[in-house]
Amino acid sequence: MKKLSSPDYPALAESQLRETSVRATDARIKVLAALLGAPYALSHQDVQDKLTDMDRVTLYRALDCLTDAGLAHKIAGDDRVFRYNAGAEHNEPGNHNASPQHQHGHFKCTRCAKVFCIDNVDEQLFAADNKASSKSPTATLRQQLQNVLQATLGKGFQSHEIELTIKGWCADCAHQV
Ligand SMILES: [Zn+2]
Ligand SMILES: [Zn+2]
Repeated sequence: MKKLSSPDYPALAESQLRETSVRATDARIKVLAALLGAPYALSHQDVQDKLTDMDRVTLYRALDCLTDAGLAHKIAGDDRVFRYNAGAEHNEPGNHNASPQHQHGHFKCTRCAKVFCIDNVDEQLFAADNKASSKSPTATLRQQLQNVLQATLGKGFQSHEIELTIKGWCADCAHQV
């Protein structure tokens, strides 16, 4: 009988690092594996708690390097704590490997301060334009917000980026009420 096992995060981390120009050091693999395996974004302290034998400076550098390499992204929390999650926030304009429009949203729990990435937001919502006119009900979120922007502030305003953050209670916190 086949045994169910959790994904091999260190192996996944190593293969992701090998696809970038940065070296797959032991520390980077461990930190990325911790991010990949976490259901929500982790603060420095959260990662440190998982990797107790790694020194602080090495851990900070590994997080910065992973962020620069586009393997992780940094999210500012309302509690002034930065949290990290695996995957790119959105692709830099210079990155022609993928659609420059890809962005994702975040859910922030106002009780426990956990931050979750919402990766499955319909990319069409953020697309610069689609075939429908901006007045139609299927206009993208970007088109609709562009209309609101110009109606409120004036014709000269252009939106380039939309950040989506949903705030509320996570399932654990909502359960405790
Ligand atoms: Zn919560
Ligand atoms: Zn995210």
